[in-house]
Amino acid sequence: MDVFFITGASRGIGLALSKKLIGSNNVLVCTARSKNQELEELANEQNGKLVFLEFDLAETPRLEELMDAMISHVPEFPSSITLVNNAGMIEPIGHTEDNSQAAIEKNIAVNLTAPMILTSAFIRKLKEKHVPKRVLNISSGAGRHAYAGWSSYCASKAGLDHYSNTVALEQKKEPFGVKIVSVAPGIIDTDMQKEIRATNTQKFGLVKQFIEYKEKGLLSTPEETASKLADLIQSDHFSELDVLLDLSTI
Ligand code: NAP
Repeated sequence: MDVFFITGASRGIGLALSKKLIGSNNVLVCTARSKNQELEELANEQNGKLVFLEFDLAETPRLEELMDAMISHVPEFPSSITLVNNAGMIEPIGHTEDNSQAAIEKNIAVNLTAPMILTSAFIRKLKEKHVPKRVLNISSGAGRHAYAGWSSYCASKAGLDHYSNTVALEQKKEPFGVKIVSVAPGIIDTDMQKEIRATNTQKFGLVKQFIEYKEKGLLSTPEETASKLADLIQSDHFSELDVLLDLSTI
């Protein structure tokens, strides 16, 4: 049985990915602040093994506890275990001097601190499990190119990429190391894009461009993105992938 821990599974890309992976011979341990009814119904219909843990990733002191809870659902002899750090937030949008301390802290906690602590705990607590272990971080083009108005988001995703590069160097030397990849998924029609389009131009100068992306039908659907991500994490060649990937070029 393949086991998947997926954060941000209540909406958007995380929900579509969870729906894609449910039903076959997989165990899903999903998390977000709120459950998704549709996902639970789908799991029941398909006899899929789903556990949904409601958790706020900004509560960083409790993340070790969250990983313990996730691991408690791993069967005795899994075929593989994968952590998908997908949950994320774009706020605060606006020039950095206008971003509040609380908003900056929350963005970094959810987008960067949480994936780092979860990955650290995943590696340590599963050391003795000698099966393929994978971490897939959902990054962004914004981690690789700067966008005025998105300083916290850009910094968090650049941090996630470089964290992944560093962990990859460490894990390469381990006999049953974890394979880590950080993927920029493209531009996807989710609530996050709605939030971006609803921003005013003073806060985010490229807002018209993002409205045009939607009007011209240039956004991917969460389902298309989830399909590509599911293929990626289930690929026989996952262990050979580069650490930093762009889903639009795969
Ligand atoms: P979304 O539709 O806004 O969904 C975000 C998910 O993260 C939700 O399930 C949300 O669940 C969860 N989440 C947010 N804050 C959380 C918190 N404090 N604690 C726990 N869970 C939290 O976003 P999306 O577009 O699917 O984005 C998924 C990932 O893709 C993110 O990492 C994002 O940065 C990345 N990405 C998206 C795009 C795009 O165009 N959409 C482009 C590049 C990268 P709850 O609200 O229920 O907690």
